[in-house]
Amino acid sequence: STLKRVSIVGSGNWGSTIAKIVGTNVLSNPKFDQKVKMYVYEEIVDGRKLTEIINTQHENIKYLPGHKLPENVVAVPDVVEVAHDADIIIFVLPHQFMANTCKPLMGKLKSDAFGVSLCKGFYIADDGKIDLISNMVRNLLKIECLVVMGANIAGEVAAGQFCEATIGSRNREQGLLLKEVLQTDFFRIVVRHDVEVVEACGALKNIVALGAGFCDGLNYGDNTKAAVIRLGLMEVMKFCDIFYKSSEHRTFFESCGVADLVTTCYGGRNRRVAEAFARALGEKTIDELEKELLNGQKVQGPEAAREVNIMLKAHNYENDFPLLTSIYKICVREIPVTQLIDNLRNHPEHL
Ligand code: NAD
Ligand code: 13P
Repeated sequence: STLKRVSIVGSGNWGSTIAKIVGTNVLSNPKFDQKVKMYVYEEIVDGRKLTEIINTQHENIKYLPGHKLPENVVAVPDVVEVAHDADIIIFVLPHQFMANTCKPLMGKLKSDAFGVSLCKGFYIADDGKIDLISNMVRNLLKIECLVVMGANIAGEVAAGQFCEATIGSRNREQGLLLKEVLQTDFFRIVVRHDVEVVEACGALKNIVALGAGFCDGLNYGDNTKAAVIRLGLMEVMKFCDIFYKSSEHRTFFESCGVADLVTTCYGGRNRRVAEAFARALGEKTIDELEKELLNGQKVQGPEAAREVNIMLKAHNYENDFPLLTSIYKICVREIPVTQLIDNLRNHPEHL
């Protein structure tokens, strides 16, 4: 048939939310096959397989409790089975799991399929080099890869609250087709062509959100937190200028830029875990707090901070990015969290 098949690889908090949107949209759009397969990393929840729970109760009771998924979304534990016959493959996993999840798909996909990454973070290649997740997908799976980033805290989107997102696509037609898959009355989308900047914004803001959470945990006020957010934005822009030759600053003012920075620094999981980390004053690690607070969900900021630090170190840029560098060092407990603000007093922005 000529109907386009959309598949989803991932079923966490955001993955399940996206499945709800995509599953609903394909039912009313004659271009698309009505069945949406969703890859679930299988686990046992309350003595039952999560795939079985999703396929009978139509709810991901572990990662998105309280929201029903449309019945045309089918949970499948085999990633090849999910992706091999798809025209559009939406990747929405914690970014550190992407490479291992994609490897079984090598050589198994339709040649004219395209991927979409909703993952916020970078990829560490075998040679230690850092790359964008979308580039990893392109190189490994030999398909084009778009991205979707934005101010999209999953629970709010699942509840149908108004928000925006940004698609990054080099190809206008693919971008507009993807927009048909994702846009709803409450989820409004802008398509931009500078994929790398859109994606890097999403990956980097999680690091800034850790900084905002540290401020909260140290009981600093709103001005200090606003300064951290602003310096974060300046470092994000500089990073994109240097590494991705960003040419149009307009992209930073899309949902993937300023808006995602704001929402994550106020309402995100990275912020929450970082606040708890600062309150524990060195007694607990980020990993321990993630397990304690998030019931299997993942924060992406600490890994992204490490990935970014590898890039900054390799190019001798650590001193040009005091916020990103300090947050990394706090996460790995190289410096105490109380040193964050002292490290910002001589920020390049102020000199
Ligand atoms: P999540 O934080 O809920 O992570 C849990 C998921 O990871 C579960 O589906 C679990 O089965 C899976 N998992 C655990 N171990 C795994 C393994 N070894 N291999 C493969 N999968 C494994 O995930 P999420 O919230 O859906 O986030 C996915 C991506 O989307 C992240 O990069 C995140 O930054 C981004 N994102 C999240 C939100 C949000 O509000 N949750 C919003 C926008 C973007
Ligand atoms: P957290 O992972 O910090 O919850 O951020 C979610 C997000 O990416 C919102 O756009």
